[in-house]
Amino acid sequence: MRFATAAIHVGQEPDPATGATIPPICVSSTFTQDEPGRHRGYEYSRTDNPTRRNYERCLAALDGGEDAAAFASGSAATCAVLAAWTRPGQRVVAYSDLYGGTYRLFEQVFRPWGLDVRYVERRDPAAFSEAVDESTRLVWLETPTNPRLHVLDIHAVTQAVRACNADCLVVVDNTFATPALQQPLELGADLVVYSTTKYIGGHSDLVGGAVVARSADRLVPVRFYQNAAGAVPSPWDCFLAQRGLKTLALRMHAHCANAQRVAAWASSQPAFSEVLYPGLPTHPDHEVAQRQMRGFGGMVSCVLRGGVDTARRFVSRTRYFACAESLGGVESLICHPASMTHASIPAEVRARHGLSDGLVRLSVGLEDVDDLIADLEQALMFAGEG
Ligand SMILES: *Cc1c(COP(=O)(O)O)cnc(C)c1O
Repeated sequence: MRFATAAIHVGQEPDPATGATIPPICVSSTFTQDEPGRHRGYEYSRTDNPTRRNYERCLAALDGGEDAAAFASGSAATCAVLAAWTRPGQRVVAYSDLYGGTYRLFEQVFRPWGLDVRYVERRDPAAFSEAVDESTRLVWLETPTNPRLHVLDIHAVTQAVRACNADCLVVVDNTFATPALQQPLELGADLVVYSTTKYIGGHSDLVGGAVVARSADRLVPVRFYQNAAGAVPSPWDCFLAQRGLKTLALRMHAHCANAQRVAAWASSQPAFSEVLYPGLPTHPDHEVAQRQMRGFGGMVSCVLRGGVDTARRFVSRTRYFACAESLGGVESLICHPASMTHASIPAEVRARHGLSDGLVRLSVGLEDVDDLIADLEQALMFAGEG
């Protein structure tokens, strides 16, 4: 089954009891057993639930994985991978441009617990070889990164990591690209993590996360933790997210087209000192992105020459771009990472990682792109830069 077919059909087989074309949402928390210990595959919904299982099967199919586990949020999925696969004293190597909440989990939850977290600041695979040692359990990549939209060569990094430590797992947070644009497991990664809150849900109306594994044995400890810690999504949210999957390929195609237009427009504006979009030939990682992605995504970051004050005025003035955290919905959003999504990263660390205070991040939605550009134009004017 090809991607668009799997998105619509896997886990959506008609209900055998009624013939319902769309399987009913199974809200039951528990399942009646014929006699103690003899059940029909389900016992209790924290452990497993038919609606969640259908959704997990679809997630696995779309990434070319053998199995997937759904979580109550992307952060819960990240936490599950770290808790399931690492022990105190072991090392995790991560690329430095990271989602703020992932950085917070590394620094304020898992470092105090005993994890040795190291950050790599160069995209060069050799930089990962230098950081990975015998004790390294996981390498954590986000690509494209948030919010600087760096692109890491997943295949090259995976090869470099394996050469140093064959037992080290490579995890890719694929939230920005989604399986519609990038298939990390095919490029050599072991696990893929999602915040399904973003493009997979796609309508800014649910919070969720997922882990997909290339081989089912890599998911066994994650699934154990899913049941043991219990940060599972409700059947309602699984239903909504699975409905999102059905239009994911279509939406991503449209997000890419709109973002490319917005990035081209922003590049022509002297108010921006830098426009970061992997689809621009001027982007430093454009070639890698062309090779490993099927489209460049819906996220565009721009740096305002006027700095923090101009950036804050700009994001407060847009009409269609709502000033809000999160991304990936059909509606456009704009944010100022230094004071919003990335405020939990200390200012000097932000500066070292090139996250300028004048940077604004756009999640380009599916409105008419001419309206979106007109909106950005009037906001620039207000910010005193148009
Ligand atoms: C939002 C996000 C997360 C965290 O997901 P939640 O659903 O908000 O917990 C992780 N990684 C990336 C790249 C994100 O954008």
